[in-house]
Amino acid sequence: MKSYYDSNFGHWDMNDGDDVDFYHDVQSRSVTKTCQGCGHRVKLLPQYGYCDSCATKIEQGFDLDY
Ligand SMILES: [Zn+2]
Repeated sequence: MKSYYDSNFGHWDMNDGDDVDFYHDVQSRSVTKTCQGCGHRVKLLPQYGYCDSCATKIEQGFDLDY
């Protein structure tokens, strides 16, 4: 199994060629932007404002107070 990482969805574990294609599609549509949570420059899909680690914190109810 291969692991991939991107800033939209975090780590991906993939065996399936379709998943790999989707991953590359996401990567190719992502743009470099500043995460609204941590201020890091990350590659995100245009409609996303937060990187994966910030999105996870939001989901878990942490305050993002950087
Ligand atoms: Zn972030």
